[in-house]
Amino acid sequence: MTMETTGAAASWSEGRGGRLTIDLVALVENWRFLAARAGAAECAAAVKGDGYGTGLEQAVTALSAAGCRTFFVALPEEGVRARAIAPQATIHVLNGLFEEAVELYLAHGLIPVLGSLAELRLWADAALKRGTKLPATLHVDTGMNRMGLRVEEALGLAAAPGPLSAIDLKLVISHLACADAPDHALTALQLERFRRVAAAFPGVRKSLANSAGILTGPEFHFDLVRPGIALYGGRALAGRPNPMRTVVTLEGRIMLVRMVPKGETVGYGAAETCTRDSRIAILSIGYADGFHRAAGGTDAVPGARAAIDGRPVRLFGRISMDLLALDVTDLPDGLGERGQWVELFGPRIPVDEVAAHAGTIGYELLTGLGRRYGRRYLGDLPQG
Ligand SMILES: *Cc1c(COP(=O)(O)O)cnc(C)c1O
Repeated sequence: MTMETTGAAASWSEGRGGRLTIDLVALVENWRFLAARAGAAECAAAVKGDGYGTGLEQAVTALSAAGCRTFFVALPEEGVRARAIAPQATIHVLNGLFEEAVELYLAHGLIPVLGSLAELRLWADAALKRGTKLPATLHVDTGMNRMGLRVEEALGLAAAPGPLSAIDLKLVISHLACADAPDHALTALQLERFRRVAAAFPGVRKSLANSAGILTGPEFHFDLVRPGIALYGGRALAGRPNPMRTVVTLEGRIMLVRMVPKGETVGYGAAETCTRDSRIAILSIGYADGFHRAAGGTDAVPGARAAIDGRPVRLFGRISMDLLALDVTDLPDGLGERGQWVELFGPRIPVDEVAAHAGTIGYELLTGLGRRYGRRYLGDLPQG
């Protein structure tokens, strides 16, 4: 995207400290890329966490138009939002089957991903009360020890269905704990366990792969794959080049530039000292916008990179609630001036790089994007 170096802020970011550009064309390309990788398996989309921060409605609209027919959300509330956009889609809800929510699932045609025997019994009871089989997905834990029945419990149900006979079983899933590190021993173990479970449920579709699983290899694909982070441009496999297109770009605008003499410090805690006479640019973005405080600089560790007109600069000193500083001393004349836009992450500065700097992962930066930014969507979508 182009940088605006002069002139008024575009109307979509007027009055805002920063602006987000969300490229739905890239989102769709990423989905098509993963669908091609998945071969014969259906490519669904994880749109939980407000579409990994991109906006659930916009993500579901763009992906539905591209042909995505199956969505995974975390919460029933997210399922209701997805249903409003995609009346025909299959929507699986990963968390949160309580008695009070049963009507919500039924009213909106949401499929619960049953994660324990208690949830299975609850759904089976709801089915018996209504005198009809209700659709559900079964989550089997193969090593994450979070949601999901134990392998032995699942094998037991396959042999003696009990409550399962009241249910129209649509899909059996498991979730990989370490797929981002493909050589991790747990990944092979989970695959082996999932194969055993899969064999016990012939005629039911199976799903194991998240983004990393898709990229790791066809043995993980089964009947349906569930990418999240890679759709949104994040890196799924550690230590490998990221093949995905950038979807989210965050920019802030320089409000002022000041000269700070050698030996003085910038920001709270006097955390970082100028080792030379420095030009310091101040932006109106801070940790209240979800921009992690730990991405800032100290005397021990320089700040994360940002980019001005494609040239790298570094965050300098602590990030405050609503402000951050950049060292623009090395930029040529005319760059690093009041009014110019700075890429904090996007095509030049991968979100995963900033996240790593802050001691976290791209997922957390994206899902934590603050609500104060102006937002612009690229692609053929109704704006707003
Ligand atoms: C979030 C999630 C996914 C998507 O994972 P990514 O690593 O973002 O691709 C898939 N399956 C389940 C069960 C999830 O919770």
